[in-house]
Amino acid sequence: MAYAQRVDGRKKVRLAEIDPHVDGGLSKAQGKLELQQLGQEFAELEDLLFYASHHSLLIILQGRDTAGKDGAIRRVLEFSNAQSIRVVPFKVPTPRELAHDFLWRVHPHAPGRGMTAIFNRSHYEDVLVSRVRGLVPPEVWERRYQHINHFESLLHDSNTLILKFYLHISKEEQERRLLDREKETEKAWKLSVQDWKEREYWDAYTAAYEDAINRCATPHAPWYVVPADRKWYRDLAVMQRIVEELRPHRETWLQTLRKIGDQALVELRAYRQSLQGGGGD
Ligand code: AMP
Ligand code: MG
Repeated sequence: MAYAQRVDGRKKVRLAEIDPHVDGGLSKAQGKLELQQLGQEFAELEDLLFYASHHSLLIILQGRDTAGKDGAIRRVLEFSNAQSIRVVPFKVPTPRELAHDFLWRVHPHAPGRGMTAIFNRSHYEDVLVSRVRGLVPPEVWERRYQHINHFESLLHDSNTLILKFYLHISKEEQERRLLDREKETEKAWKLSVQDWKEREYWDAYTAAYEDAINRCATPHAPWYVVPADRKWYRDLAVMQRIVEELRPHRETWLQTLRKIGDQALVELRAYRQSLQGGGGD
């Protein structure tokens, strides 16, 4: 069973119709066990991706405040070999970034062959916060969906596997998490008045997310809506999707590595022979 809902452009999604609280019929213990198994498979696949260097992997995480982007990233990293993965957080743009087109700051972080990049927020902020808070006029953000689709299509043409996750949290769960942060003083550093202010725009964000998801969902860069009220389920759904994306490439990557190995052996043998024939030193 797929734990996250795929949106690839064939059918439009309405977020109100997706329950953020589902558990996939699993207990928390079962979910954690499955995450461990998938995580180990991810570790192997990530190695193959890295050494075969055919593809790159781009994981985009979007979601409202407290939806769990940081937590989901931490879980993926737990299973990663770290040398081939990079996390890129996108914050409020600097004046220099704002002086350019909105993709200017994003493109340099696109993962090269063999590499994985996890975007903590992304170019989608430019059709989310920018639209909801009126940071740019409608005619500007309106054109951005098309630019995003072209950009992602370019990355796809360059062998980038693209996974976009929307961590779908309910309004009640967000309130609970924000209030928890206030209670636990050691989590208070995560607090921001901004989070409560953004919350006032809940419905406008819902509309903006639905548009971002529906207008920028393609077979080569699909969105996955992840029910995120339960943290363990969220992490499982993300990991499952990553593994299922990589798994079909396993054989091709292994073949490439076998070829590289064969070639290395041929070169080594030739080198040894040259030492014997030529006397060496
Ligand atoms: P956080 O993810 O909690 O560290 O917060 C990052 C903040 O940067 C969020 O409030 C985002 O909305 C904001 N941000 C990220 N990208 C953009 C952007 N392109 N334009 C405006 N604000 C942005
Ligand atoms: Mg925040």
